[in-house]
Amino acid sequence: MERTFVMIKPDGVQRCLIGEIISRLEKKGLKIVAMKMMKIERDLAERHYAEHKGKPFFESLVSYVTSGPVVAMVVEGKNAIKIVRTLVGATNPAEAAPGTIRGDFGMEVGRNVIHASDSPESAEREIALFFKPDEIVEYRRIDEDWLYE
Ligand code: UDP
Repeated sequence: MERTFVMIKPDGVQRCLIGEIISRLEKKGLKIVAMKMMKIERDLAERHYAEHKGKPFFESLVSYVTSGPVVAMVVEGKNAIKIVRTLVGATNPAEAAPGTIRGDFGMEVGRNVIHASDSPESAEREIALFFKPDEIVEYRRIDEDWLYE
C-alpha cells in the first residue's frame, strides 16, 4: 500500500467541491486515512512549495493557497500516488482531460482546485509537513477484498 498527500485548495473549498472530490476518491477505491480542514500559514505554504521558490508564479501561488481554508488529506491505496494524479488531471485545468477533477472543475492554472503529491519522495515529505504520525488512522475498508485481486 502507498500513501499520498491530497489538498483541496481554497477555491475548491469556496466552490463547495469538498464532497464531490472526496466522493470521487472514495468511489475509486482509495482510502482516506487522515483529514483536516485548516488555514495554511505562509511559512507552511512556502515549505510545501519550496521547489517552486524563485519562479514567477511563486508569490501568487503562496497567496492563493493561504487565502482561505483548505482540506488536507492522506489517501492510501495500491499505487495511490499515480492513481490520484490521474484522477486530478493535468496541472493546467484548461488542458486537463474531461473526467479529471481539474478538467471538470477548473478554468486556469492559478486556480486548479486540488493538489496531489507527484512522487513517493514528495508524498512522504508533504504528509510529514501536514500531519503528525498519530493523526493517520489505520483501518480496513469493508470492500478491500473486492478492490484488490
Ligand atoms: N502554478 C501556477 N502557474 C504555473 C504553474 C503552476 O500558478 O505556471 C501553480 C498551480 O497551482 C500548481 C502549483 O503551482 O498546482 C504547483 O505546480 P506544479 O508544477 O508542481 O503542478 P502540480 O503538481 O500541482 O500539478
